[in-house]
Amino acid sequence: MQAFTFLRANDARQAIDAGARSSTAQQGASVRFVAGGTTLLDLMKLNVETPAQVVDINRLPLAKVEHTHEGGLKIGALVRNADLANHAEVKRNYAVLSEALLAGASAQLRNMATTGGNLLQRTRCMYFRDEHMPCNKREPGSGCPAIDGANRSLAILGTSAHCIATNPSDMNVALAALEARIVIQGAKGERTVPIADFFLLPGATPQHETVMQPGDLITHVLLAPPKNGARSHYLKLRDRASYEFALASAAVVLAADGGRITHARVALGGVGTRPWRSVEAEQALVGQRAGPEAFAAAANAALRDAKPQSENAFKVELAKRCLTHALATVAAA
Ligand SMILES: Cc1cc2nc3c(=O)[nH]c(=O)nc-3n(C[C@H](O)[C@H](O)[C@H](O)COP(=O)(O)OP(=O)(O)OC[C@H]3O[C@@H](n4cnc5c(N)ncnc54)[C@H](O)[C@@H]3O)c2cc1C
Ligand code: SF4
Repeated sequence: MQAFTFLRANDARQAIDAGARSSTAQQGASVRFVAGGTTLLDLMKLNVETPAQVVDINRLPLAKVEHTHEGGLKIGALVRNADLANHAEVKRNYAVLSEALLAGASAQLRNMATTGGNLLQRTRCMYFRDEHMPCNKREPGSGCPAIDGANRSLAILGTSAHCIATNPSDMNVALAALEARIVIQGAKGERTVPIADFFLLPGATPQHETVMQPGDLITHVLLAPPKNGARSHYLKLRDRASYEFALASAAVVLAADGGRITHARVALGGVGTRPWRSVEAEQALVGQRAGPEAFAAAANAALRDAKPQSENAFKVELAKRCLTHALATVAAA
């Protein structure tokens, strides 16, 4: 691990000012915030992240879940994954988020991992995590060995000729289905970014994963009030029952009236280069009778543009089955 200096920030301004001295907030950043440390420290030990300065943000007052005036939730960036998953209001009104968090990592990791850190966790692509291999995301222009190599766990949606890495987070998929908004404080003030605009497709610049700029500090995640009568669910399929990343997952929010679907939000995990909201699936559902036909149509719509890699064609069918099962579960609840 490369040597680095350590700063314990006492307030947000101090953290932002330190972060703003970095030339990028993306891969290769010379200043990194540390929250739970469960992504950052791993990657520093592997020499994939080599910040010259690490800024500890754990003293900032961002560890609360609060109600908003509109009846939604304001989740502090330092709320631990375990606390958020077990929060009474989250369990009651945002089940998809609680279930997604509990499907992630292990109990010990969830006790450390934070909301902000989870949003910004990095891909598990094995080439990205090996400093001796080429990787366009880690070292722009060096190539993407995954395209002709080990890509079983990688993406089939949103890929490019430069990167096919999957966004590995479970929480992010639930937040996509809940249309969360991310509150960011930066060198130029505060802004709120819808999650649909927060993550970037890899295109020709896979080293840029989000809209974060140097000094940007995620302070909160905002959830709108729960939709009247809606139910939600997260289903994760993986190689073993715990402590494993998704091969395919589905987050669904559904409301129906007289058996007809009036509201649908659908996002997929494990298959996309970013948490994959499927407006196509939602359009295939709304107005239809809740049942196998509508669910199959939604699954086909969601995977219509899938581009399987050499080892992961199985994900197309797996993701379809995952989504239809999640929809059937929530409709039957
Ligand atoms: C063995 C293992 C298994 C795992 N399994 C899963 C799984 O199944 N599903 C899943 O979803 N995840 C899984 N994870 C990932 C885990 O969820 C993340 O490591 C965790 O959520 C990151 O949160 P953190 O607070 O520890 O982040 P940190 O490591 O502290 O930070 C991660 C990144 O976010 C930045 N950052 C943190 N907070 C802020 C902020 N407020 N503003 C701006 N930047 C910030 C940091 O600078 C860093 O770049 C696993 C991790 C491990 C190690
Ligand atoms: S898929 Fe992306 S992260 Fe993996 S090797 Fe290719 S460029 Fe790197």
